[in-house]
Amino acid sequence: MNKQWTIDSIKEFVEKNSDSKLLTTEYRGFSQKLQFECACGNTFEKSFTKFKNKNQRKCEVCQPLKEAF
Ligand SMILES: [Zn+2]
Repeated sequence: MNKQWTIDSIKEFVEKNSDSKLLTTEYRGFSQKLQFECACGNTFEKSFTKFKNKNQRKCEVCQPLKEAF
């Protein structure tokens, strides 16, 4: 069974596993787009699933999608 994510556990994950910051303050489900602030200062939107499972943890300037690993 999947871990039940809350906005607090997501925030913690983001802070521990990336240089980005979570701006969204309410989590409504895995398909929701969350707002992040990249280390470079740009903000970007991404679902937590992509952020976590596809390692898309920076804005598209710092990590262009085609180069995402
Ligand atoms: Zn960036």
